[in-house]
Amino acid sequence: MEKYFNNYKIFYFLIFFTLIYFQSMFGQLTIPSDHQLQSIIEKLQNGRIEELTVKDSEGLPDKCGLSLMFELQQNYQYFSSEQKSMIKKLLAPTERQKSVIVGNFRIHYDTSGIHTPSMLTPSNERMLTDKNYVKNWLDSSRVITQFVDSTAQIFNYVWDYIVNTLGYDTLRFEIGDNAYNIYISDLSYYGEIRWEPSSPLNPGQIPSRYATWILIDNDFMDVYTPSRGLPGLKVTAAHELHHAIQLGGYGFRDQDRYFYEITSTWIEDVIYDNINDYYQYIKNSAGQPRGHFANPGKSFIATDWVIEYSRAIWGKYIQERFSPAVMRRTWELMGIDSINQNSIKSLDDALKQINSTLKIAFVEFAKWNYFTGNRAVPGSYYSEAPNYPLIKECSTIELIGPSRTYTDSIETFSSLYLPVLYQGKKVTEIINNINFESASNHWILPYRFNYILSSTKVDDSYRDLGNGVFVMLDVSDPWNWSIGGLITTTQRSVVVFPNPFVTERNKSIQFLLPSTKDITSKLYVYTSNMELVFSNEYLINNYEPKINWNVTDARGNVLNSGIYLYVIILNNREHVGKFAVVRR
Ligand SMILES: [Zn+2]
Repeated sequence: MEKYFNNYKIFYFLIFFTLIYFQSMFGQLTIPSDHQLQSIIEKLQNGRIEELTVKDSEGLPDKCGLSLMFELQQNYQYFSSEQKSMIKKLLAPTERQKSVIVGNFRIHYDTSGIHTPSMLTPSNERMLTDKNYVKNWLDSSRVITQFVDSTAQIFNYVWDYIVNTLGYDTLRFEIGDNAYNIYISDLSYYGEIRWEPSSPLNPGQIPSRYATWILIDNDFMDVYTPSRGLPGLKVTAAHELHHAIQLGGYGFRDQDRYFYEITSTWIEDVIYDNINDYYQYIKNSAGQPRGHFANPGKSFIATDWVIEYSRAIWGKYIQERFSPAVMRRTWELMGIDSINQNSIKSLDDALKQINSTLKIAFVEFAKWNYFTGNRAVPGSYYSEAPNYPLIKECSTIELIGPSRTYTDSIETFSSLYLPVLYQGKKVTEIINNINFESASNHWILPYRFNYILSSTKVDDSYRDLGNGVFVMLDVSDPWNWSIGGLITTTQRSVVVFPNPFVTERNKSIQFLLPSTKDITSKLYVYTSNMELVFSNEYLINNYEPKINWNVTDARGNVLNSGIYLYVIILNNREHVGKFAVVRR
């Protein structure tokens, strides 16, 4: 009897865990509890009184508020009618003291109180509170108007770019309105998109589409340092307006938030190539990897408030490998009235139209993500690759005896970079999970694999890794896996970026250095006649070894057009190369 009882306990335990497992696997399977619903309303309230800045564990401010709106929309049917009217009130924008219509936009703003917009001083303080800039009523009115005018000009430019240059669906106004509404608010983060969950533009159809409105910060003072002020406003306009077009033109797909963020973050860089706000999601201030570069084994469809933004690089890959139109085609397919046409299916269909597939592209994407930082190859892979961090690799495994098995697991649609050492030669293997069925069902699951290494070619299922080791991936479903691009680890020499250096476009040249333990490095620059024009010694950050130089001579003058020679002393070696300066 005792034993019987124990078995029952184990049985219930198993059922319990299976339920939890399936719930996390399929997301919203069960009806949300009253507590969960209440907590969504509380988050909305907190956002409303604008006291809370949602921050992830790494301290990055919430980019755009889309996750809360997704949570709200997903659970909307379960709220009581009192809760629904509460939500309606909480969502309704606060009317500002003034509004102005410019082109397609109506900008709502205050001229007194905490929400008053302000330009920033060169030291990133609000001009309105700086007596050097604002001495009287006229000055303050000018500073406010400048922010409002910039907002209007930037939003109209972004609209035109997304619709007329990139070919996306047009932006939808709220029913009965003749302009799109922007509310300037004191947010202490970038911006927020909102819509009324009870009023889709296309009732009864899938996916439902919504008219939206946008809240933006009133100064962009508390954002990623390089984006403070107008650059922050520009990327926010691109990011939020693309969300508006996603929701108004192609609709709400509740499991695909990752793809809404990938696209919006990528679009920032398409429209404003020289603002790189997305770098904060791929590396920290010390240059160490973050987001995708820190967690390549995390599912492509996952969201954690960092990784979905970091995967703007997926858009960069699609744009530079194929065309930005493949991203737009994906959205067009997602807009089709069918529950099955989710982001994964649509990506695959869009890639098939240009003779690729999602599986093939994903394996190639994993390879692109290896050739970054000081592994960047000029003219290949990402154009901005030298600025990206190195992707996180596993600890090196070494084959010493005749064979060895490495066992690990990675999530649905993700990659693992495994350095393999044999007789002193190291090669990095990329193992990709490409389980399409799992991804298109939104299952984020860990998948186990055995990676077998052998000093001899046991049979035809083994292949030569390139350093004398024969390898084989031992899985029951080989069609869901790929041992991707085979990579020989080479010690690269110095990479110069950008080259040519164009004075009107570029601020500085970066010399990306090979990995090093040196803490200083010397740079010498010569003309083509071997006249020394510049020399200096630099401190080196070992995570991201590079020299940043503003391309001026010893007197501080920008160099003339021409070909120059550099010599960099590092690791007891002279690294010599050339670069061009174009001065217009
Ligand atoms: Zn977003």
